[in-house]
Amino acid sequence: MPKKQVYIVGGGIAGMMSALILERHDYQVTILEKSQQLGGRLAYRSNGKYKIDRGPTVMLLPHMHREVFSLAQLDFDQLAITRCDPAVTIDFADGEKFIKYSDHEQQKTYFAQHYPEDFVGFEHYLTDMRQLYQQGEKLLLTKPLPTIASIMNKPTLQLLKDMQLQQSTRHFLKNYFTNDYLLDAYSLQTLYIGGGPTVAPSLYALIGFSEHEHGVWYLQGGYAGLVEYLTKKLERRGVKIYYNQTVESVERRGKMITKLHTATESFACDHVIFNAEYPKIAPILNQKNKGYTPSNGCVTIYLGLNRQYPQKAVHSFYLPKNFAILFAKLFKKQQLPQTPAIYVFNPSVIDDTLAPSGHSSLYILVPVPSQTATIDWDDTQFKHDFVQQILEQVEQAGFLGLQTAIEWQEVLTPADCEREGLYRGGSFGIAPNLWQSGPFRPQAAIQPFTNAYAVGASTHPGGGIPVVMQSAKIACEELLKKDGENANKASISRM
Ligand SMILES: Cc1cc2nc3c(=O)[nH]c(=O)nc-3n(C[C@H](O)[C@H](O)[C@H](O)COP(=O)(O)OP(=O)(O)OC[C@H]3O[C@@H](n4cnc5c(N)ncnc54)[C@H](O)[C@@H]3O)c2cc1C
Repeated sequence: MPKKQVYIVGGGIAGMMSALILERHDYQVTILEKSQQLGGRLAYRSNGKYKIDRGPTVMLLPHMHREVFSLAQLDFDQLAITRCDPAVTIDFADGEKFIKYSDHEQQKTYFAQHYPEDFVGFEHYLTDMRQLYQQGEKLLLTKPLPTIASIMNKPTLQLLKDMQLQQSTRHFLKNYFTNDYLLDAYSLQTLYIGGGPTVAPSLYALIGFSEHEHGVWYLQGGYAGLVEYLTKKLERRGVKIYYNQTVESVERRGKMITKLHTATESFACDHVIFNAEYPKIAPILNQKNKGYTPSNGCVTIYLGLNRQYPQKAVHSFYLPKNFAILFAKLFKKQQLPQTPAIYVFNPSVIDDTLAPSGHSSLYILVPVPSQTATIDWDDTQFKHDFVQQILEQVEQAGFLGLQTAIEWQEVLTPADCEREGLYRGGSFGIAPNLWQSGPFRPQAAIQPFTNAYAVGASTHPGGGIPVVMQSAKIACEELLKKDGENANKASISRM
């Protein structure tokens, strides 16, 4: 019997993992990718001499990578990953500093020395959050939540109660910390998925905990090395990949999608998994879209430098005083904060493959509103002045001589990201607010179809590499279950 045809629309990390999982289940899998390469946001920026990750830099939850790899019969342990220690450093504009260590005992000693008033709170934080995290992963992160009824069970309701779901991430952390700097340090991780510490619901406080528990890791060669590794596996396993093919519309028979159309070709399919940004799928399906709120955008500056900063950590944050208050403005009113928060990625300190000897590659990320009518990122002067302000701020933060060391520089803004296909130029898909989380977030099975699924950052369980890998796992499980049911029905009707 010929194999059933599964088409994956978009070769982001969720699309690639879906292809690798389903290929092991005897489907003929084809990826239709609109650009010239796979990986989507997981990519490099490079000028030949210098190379650096374009988007994801912080590898969290290695056990979740490992789990999804194993579903695709891949061995995650073949990849060289290094635990970053310190995990992150945070410098506040008034000179206050917080260092997050990998080792719990070292962290406790640090609390005893620098924040004795919150030492006991930190111990409680570790104990409580460990239990909450385990429940959260089991009940919310690893399975579909198609309706509100999916969370109306005793353990999930207990978890939501324990996590005080109505509170924001930062507010929830007041159960453990009294110091404002610590509240900022333990809630800023909402920025990793495009949410504000005072806006994203309390559940996202689990990200900050997971940095302690599971670590902050670095993939040697850069996170985007994952794409090269997985592309080779796809090719070796006979998954067909068509580049420069944008799926524009579909043909349907009743509740089945039967054909996918690009500008030049048509592809007959048995199943389809969409990895395009979720709000961009509706027009392809000729459906009406809900008004989704985008996550924040970012300005990212990629630099090749003729010097190194060995005294700086791999991951450093530079936050204004009253960070949370200033950032509420960004997330609630879509306004550019007067003093930006800055993240600097300095991988050359542990990886000498990204730049020539003695040189380094550096990436600066600034959270800004998603693409709005009020900020014109295509205004060259405005963009130049903004970038200049950021470079000066980074230089003053201890990257001495930064501007004179620049040999290569590229900048991406929300306007560029919108042109590349990210929903309203938001970096992380739709925002992780309460009404776009859990059962309220788009789910794997696309209604009313019986053979269409969605994966990726704007679907449940959310953004970030290990989490979008979970969306691939969930969608593949749904497809396999439904296909099994249909096969059973077909064989029963033949009896
Ligand atoms: C600046 C930045 C920093 C980040 N930092 C981190 C981090 O430190 N850690 C972390 O874990 N995550 C991070 N993320 C988030 C992470 O990058 C995303 O969650 C993840 O890469 C999204 O993957 P995806 O599977 O949704 O696919 P995407 O990356 O969105 O890829 C989708 C693919 O589909 C293709 N496509 C779209 N429409 C069509 C169509 N109609 N036809 C054919 N193909 C189509 C696109 O070309 C693209 O290749 C960051 C993101 C950004 C932007």
